[in-house]
Formats: sequence, C-alpha cells, structure tokens
Amino acid sequence: MQIKAPRGTYDILPPDTGKWQHVEAILKETAENFGYREIRTPIFEHTELFERGVGTSTDIVTKEMYTFRDKSSRSLTLRPENTASCARALIEHSIYSGILPAKWYYIGPMFRYDRPQTGRYRQFHQFGVEAFGSNNPYLDAEVIILLVEVLKRLGLNDYELHINSVACPRCREVYRKKLVEHIAPVKDKLCSDCQTRYEQNPLRVLDCKEDACHRAIAGYPTLFEHLCHDCARHYATVKEALKASHIVFQHDDNLVRGLDYYTNTAFEIHIPGIGAQSAVGGGGRYNGLVAECGGPDLPGIGFAMGIERLLLAVDTLAGGEANESKTDVFISIMNDAYEQQALELLTRLRLAGIRAEKDYMGRSGRAQMKYADKLGARLAIIIGEEEIAKGFYTLRDMRGKEQAKIGGQDIINSVKHRLATA
Ligand SMILES: [Zn+2]
Ligand SMILES: [Zn+2]
Repeated sequence: MQIKAPRGTYDILPPDTGKWQHVEAILKETAENFGYREIRTPIFEHTELFERGVGTSTDIVTKEMYTFRDKSSRSLTLRPENTASCARALIEHSIYSGILPAKWYYIGPMFRYDRPQTGRYRQFHQFGVEAFGSNNPYLDAEVIILLVEVLKRLGLNDYELHINSVACPRCREVYRKKLVEHIAPVKDKLCSDCQTRYEQNPLRVLDCKEDACHRAIAGYPTLFEHLCHDCARHYATVKEALKASHIVFQHDDNLVRGLDYYTNTAFEIHIPGIGAQSAVGGGGRYNGLVAECGGPDLPGIGFAMGIERLLLAVDTLAGGEANESKTDVFISIMNDAYEQQALELLTRLRLAGIRAEKDYMGRSGRAQMKYADKLGARLAIIIGEEEIAKGFYTLRDMRGKEQAKIGGQDIINSVKHRLATA
C-alpha cells in the first residue's frame, strides 16, 4: 500500500516554498521593524496549558485538540495556537520581572483536529505577535497598525478591520446578566452549539455564524453600551489613535471573545476578495491570561494570522509572486570526460556567491541548453574539446545568444560583470 500524508496535512513543494519564503520574510521584517523579536516554543505542551490558556468552553479545547498520552502517560497536546505557550514561556523564564513590555512574534505550524475542508487543514500555519506587560491603549493601536502594515506590504490593500471592546470582567458581569435576560425567552430557537454557549458563556452566542441565531437574538443589548468609565476611555483612545494613524476600521458589536481573560480591545481583519472565509487574522487584549496560566497579574495583547489564507489572498489578489530564477549560470559540458573540470568551476562560481548549476542526467549538449533555460539561467559556460585544449571557456548569454571566449583566470569576474549589467 502506498503511504500518503495524513488526512488534513499537505506537502509544500518547490516552487511553492518560494511563495512561503516571500510571505514569511515580509512577516518577519515587519514585526522586527515594529520592535518584536522572534520566540520559538515547543510544538507540544501539557494539555492543561491549553485548557487554562485557551478555555475549556471553546471549540478548540472541547472538539479540536490533538491530545495524546506519551509513554509515561502524560497528557500532551499539539499546540492549537501559540498565545498560551508564549504566556507559559513568559512565566517559566520570569520574563515579567525583566524589561517590559516583552514584544514577541512567532511563525510556525499549529494543529487542530478539525474536519478537513477547502482551505482548512489539521496542520496549518500561523504568524502572530504578543506584547506583555503594558495596558497602554497606544500599544493596542501599535499592534493593530502592525497587522494592517503586514497586509499592505503583501500588496493586500482591500481589507476590512473590525474592532470592539469586550470590556473588563466587572462591566462584563453586569452585561452578561442583561444578555441572559434578553436571550432566555428565545433560547429554544438557537442552534445546538448556542444552547450550550448560553449555559456556559452567553457572550459567545453573539459570535455564532448561524443566521438563525442572529435573528433570534435581534435587538440584543450591546456590550459597548455597558462599558465602565475606564473601559470606555481605553476604547476611545484606541479608536482615536487609529484614526490619527489613518487606519480605517468599523466598530462591530458581534465581535466578542467570551473568555474572562480577554479584556478591552478585540479586533479581526477580513479580506472580502477571498470568499466566505474572509478572516485572515484577529486578536485582542488578554489582561487576565498570564494570571490564568499561573503567573502574575500582567496585561497582554496580540494577534494571530493564518498563513494559508494570506497566501490565498496574495495569489488571488496581489498577483502572486513572480516565479524568479534561482540560477545565474549553467555549466554545459560537451563530453563527460570534462565532469571534473565542470565540478571545479561550479565550486569556484558558488564560492564567489554565484548561483551555478550543471547537468547530472547525461543530457546531450542541446538538451543541456533547454534545461538551462528551464532553470532560468542568465548565462551558460560551455566546456568542449577546443576549450579544454586551448584553456578558455565559452561564455554564452542565454537571452541574446552571443558568445565570448574567456580565459580561465577571468571567468569569475566576467560572469559577475555580466550578471551585474544584466
Ligand atoms: Zn470595565
Ligand atoms: Zn448559534
């Protein structure tokens, strides 16, 4: 039986890896620009971390975690997201007692045992940032500006930014009671997920994707109307900072993150041009998360973006990345007696920083030239009987086809010169 990649996983092959490298380079460069440094945490953690740091009532924890027991019967889970791991690392290494804020970014695979569907995988990839240690609303604005800047640098200018305040636990408790009163009479009209949400965490009913649920709860009281003085001021400052930075956004009452450790600013960014599943990233403040994970009472804010969706958006809307050549020079030999000379020249060129390639499949002279064209080589160096006898190389321009005889000592400089003037 042929062995295939497990359901919900996929291989990224060249030349597609080039697209990934291009997007990843922009993500990293933008984050570094904004003062964020890379953190790399383990792919798996103790299951309890995600139960505490993602929330036991979330779909992620109740339905989608890749949990297994190791040989010592410890319950481990492949990370479904990375914020909880960052909070764990912050606590474990006492980063909170060092220089704050701690500003981190990450990029890598995440795992959710979801029913695979178009564009959704069990192993998928996320880029995200976290800033721990400050409750300054201008930091919220910085994080949102970074999210928008990433899209701009990828050539994705048609986005919709939704923001809301999910308030502090105090004003949310008042609100929660009013919401329960509003939903109670129409409870039976909600989808089965929302029935459970209503019992465990009624705010998450607002988050439901089912139209029927939205119709049933129409006219519901909004969290925005119930912000306490501090929460209202925080939200107003974030919005003013965004306006002053020319970031276009819309207030969205439906944007809620039901868990207690999410506080104040929440945001989500959509690219409508990629279809129904248009959210490419989202995040917010999680001032209660570090304490929930067993650390001190330290505020934090961050976001995560799905790289698969970003790539889809870049491919369909930004015209993709030009399939650029990875080869400068191709060495063509007219006789396999010259393999050794070709290998030596190949190495000299490569040590000089020139991307050089040769044939390893025994192609004819003509087939080698076709192969050189396929690789996108700008130049070819031909080694034949006359070249060996008289001690020179034939350097051919693959576009204009003109050829020149170059002495062995001059070949590196000649190649460099031609590549620079191309
Ligand atoms: Zn409040
Ligand atoms: Zn629902």
